[in-house]
Amino acid sequence: MHYADVIIDISHEKVDRSFQYIIPEHLTDVIGVGDCVNIPFGKGNTIRTGYVIGISDKCEYDESRLKYIDSRCEDINTIEADYIRLAAWIRQTYGSTMIAALKTVLPAKKTVKSLEKKKIARLLSPDEIRSLYHECIRKKHNAKARLLLELSTEEILPYELVTGKLGVSAQTVNSLRNDGVIAIESISCYRNPVTLEDRSEVKVSLSGEQRDIVDHINANPGRYLIHGITGSGKTEVYLNIIENVIKKGRQCIMLIPEIALTYQTLMRFYKRFGDRVSVINSTLSAGERYDQCLRAKNGDIDVIIGPRSALFVPFKDLGMVIIDEEHENTYISEQNPRYHTRDVAEKLCELRNATLVLGSATPSVETYYLAGQGYYKLFRLTRRLTGGTLPETSIVDMRRELRDGNKLMLSRLLQAKIRDRLDKKEQIMLFLNRRGYSGFLNCRMCGHVIRCPHCDVSLSRHNDNMLRCHYCGYETPEIRKCPECGSTHIRALRVGTQQVEECLNRLFPDARVLRMDADTTKKKDSYEKILGTFANGEADILIGTQMIVKGHDFSNVTLVGAILADLSLNEADFKTGERTFQLLTQAIGRAGRGCIPGEALIQTYKPDHYSIVYASRQDYEAFYDEEISYRELCSYPPAGNMVHVLVSSDDERRSLGLATALKKQATAGVSVIGPAPDSVFKINDYYRYGIYIKGKDKKSVEAVRLRMEEFLRTAPLKNESVIFDVL
Ligand code: ADP
Ligand code: ZN
Ligand code: ZN
Repeated sequence: MHYADVIIDISHEKVDRSFQYIIPEHLTDVIGVGDCVNIPFGKGNTIRTGYVIGISDKCEYDESRLKYIDSRCEDINTIEADYIRLAAWIRQTYGSTMIAALKTVLPAKKTVKSLEKKKIARLLSPDEIRSLYHECIRKKHNAKARLLLELSTEEILPYELVTGKLGVSAQTVNSLRNDGVIAIESISCYRNPVTLEDRSEVKVSLSGEQRDIVDHINANPGRYLIHGITGSGKTEVYLNIIENVIKKGRQCIMLIPEIALTYQTLMRFYKRFGDRVSVINSTLSAGERYDQCLRAKNGDIDVIIGPRSALFVPFKDLGMVIIDEEHENTYISEQNPRYHTRDVAEKLCELRNATLVLGSATPSVETYYLAGQGYYKLFRLTRRLTGGTLPETSIVDMRRELRDGNKLMLSRLLQAKIRDRLDKKEQIMLFLNRRGYSGFLNCRMCGHVIRCPHCDVSLSRHNDNMLRCHYCGYETPEIRKCPECGSTHIRALRVGTQQVEECLNRLFPDARVLRMDADTTKKKDSYEKILGTFANGEADILIGTQMIVKGHDFSNVTLVGAILADLSLNEADFKTGERTFQLLTQAIGRAGRGCIPGEALIQTYKPDHYSIVYASRQDYEAFYDEEISYRELCSYPPAGNMVHVLVSSDDERRSLGLATALKKQATAGVSVIGPAPDSVFKINDYYRYGIYIKGKDKKSVEAVRLRMEEFLRTAPLKNESVIFDVL
């Protein structure tokens, strides 16, 4: 016997309410997840339609009280059905519950207060409004006249003021709208920042390389990867292929990491597509997001731009998904289910018959590997179209600096170059992949490092002489004597954006220095403010964490320095080489965007590491060849398949015990490694053990993960929790 979980109301909030039905014998092979079915519902057994969200052979209620599915709705193949199928695929691929997966793909319904936000905007000039007003007075249309009188002086009125205080009925308002006198807008942020005059942009004529890509994609649906450095014209290609999709009456989702969603980029889309394009970003409320989804569903827009969640905007006839900067790790969800946007997008495109286009200057190793196998068709854009050459890059060996007696974090070469640029009134960017005043406190005599008693991570020393834990917030006054050996030679290792700032202030008192990191960008808008100040030339040097290297063009920057490239190399996982290469490539690309050639300097204790060497040459292919042979040697993804399983519990023994029990779910051909204490062993008094599922074959690795999930459903758990991370 088979049973189906059916939901009747398909909205984000109601999906936890599913009902189990028996699948009649003759329908067992017919009904699948996502299908629309007719079911008897409620006391009167009225037939209603619902969606199947799961199928199992276990009955979870009193079987005698279960009803039978009446029939399958033929030829209803709605958008909803596809999104339910997508959720089922996410659940299957990444773990989590079907409900969590459904909530990921279905927009949250938030209608609260949306009425209050409705506004009435006049579309005619005050003179025209006044003459209409006199006409209404003559015809004794008093309500209409009241509204028109207000509109003769006010351009926009709150809807509820009109229907409330002014006593104008919704019918009257609608009739004015139908006559084209007013518009009813739900939210003011719908208003397009581009006026009609702005839209008369001159279209650039595509280069030969661009033309080939555009023509090919327009003519052939499929999966594509465009590999091209920043400034090589990828966005221009996107604009052209989107235009073609719209011409065919279909719609398009354009994903851009939030940090790269700059005003300039948005304006290019607005100018090309006017009010047929809309944006989702994290500053929108849930209600506003939901409204955007409604607009898409109603066919009011053709293009949505946004970060990864924009992938789930339900268009009627989705024709294309574009993922720009596809290598960015913000495309991996940090909440359960921990889905990878690229792969979910691919599944969505398969379900909706749409084309997938990925773009990057430094494609992720997985994507490039798949392109090598022909899974994605690869296109290259090889030239910078704005003129401007790639910066000349040199590597500075910091070990030598120390040997020669320079203990500062700025090498002598970097100091000289900074001086030179300051004198020439050119700008400088210094990049450090670590935040805060300083790193950990360590004893120079015995090596002891001060750690958080709850989280087992090193505490960071802050400017106010406090030590703080970045995970749980624990703080304690600075320690002056080593608790292990009693030595007073206990100091903070000086690596942090704040030290760089202080060091610069000492060495170059005349320079105007700006700092951008997690500490200085806590306030809303501070991020834009800092960038604006720098862009206006009101500062000479911008120091920052990786947030300064993404997507921004400053034409007067002619020197970029990576203060300590090793910081991202020393994290404990197999992707550090890739991450370092990407970060350095992006950082170097910031120099020389204007007409003056730029220069970049990489400071490191590992000057021979391939990520650093090839980044300095901007040689992606060479980096990839080296990286993929390392992955193949160790069977790391994409050469192998790996899932990280993190077990945590407030009881250390139970945590280890569960990890050990899970390990026993391994099958032939798939190994389970560990358990080992996680790199952060303790967070908020929870003990964490990790195991890795590893194997050549994707399906077998997935099968072991599903076995573990099945095991967890019946295991006697107390405070243990388990998170799966497909790597
Ligand atoms: P990417 O997205 O790869 O960074 P863009 O599409 O933003 O590249 O192009 C970089 C710059 O070159 C932009 O200022 C853009 O307007 C300009 N550009 C792009 N294509 C052309 C072209 N065919 N002719 C002239 N300028 C172009
Ligand atoms: Zn000590
Ligand atoms: Zn802590």
